[in-house]
Amino acid sequence: MHTVNNKFEIGQDVFLITERRVRIEDKRTCDVCLGVGTVTYKGYEMNCPKCHGRREIVLGSKPTIIHSVEDEPYRIVSYRYTVCKDGEFLKYKIKQGYGKEKSVTEEEIFAIREEAVKACDDLNMFNAYDEWGKQLLKSQEE
Ligand SMILES: [Zn+2]
Repeated sequence: MHTVNNKFEIGQDVFLITERRVRIEDKRTCDVCLGVGTVTYKGYEMNCPKCHGRREIVLGSKPTIIHSVEDEPYRIVSYRYTVCKDGEFLKYKIKQGYGKEKSVTEEEIFAIREEAVKACDDLNMFNAYDEWGKQLLKSQEE
């Protein structure tokens, strides 16, 4: 007989981690207009020829995934354990109020909000695999 070790119970409130795809950009203040957006040439003010008035120049960008915790908790409606040739799966059905049910794994939900936030921070740091990625994530949070 197989025993299922489910971490969460039906009726329990849990916090869900969601993923969002974003493109993070490495931006610098324009070094020609020094962030003003315009330059003065022979007495005429014109759009900066380097940043075209945007005040910043983008040195590079890359896609990344940012994890965050939803503010409102979900309630566990049911769970389902399946065994097939690919392995064993434990899936929970959760929902908020009268909202639509969502099917999630044990890794996506947390009993305590602080634990979910901590897990998000770890995942975000792991995804920002190089130094400038980490710096950019930090600067976006501030
Ligand atoms: Zn400029």
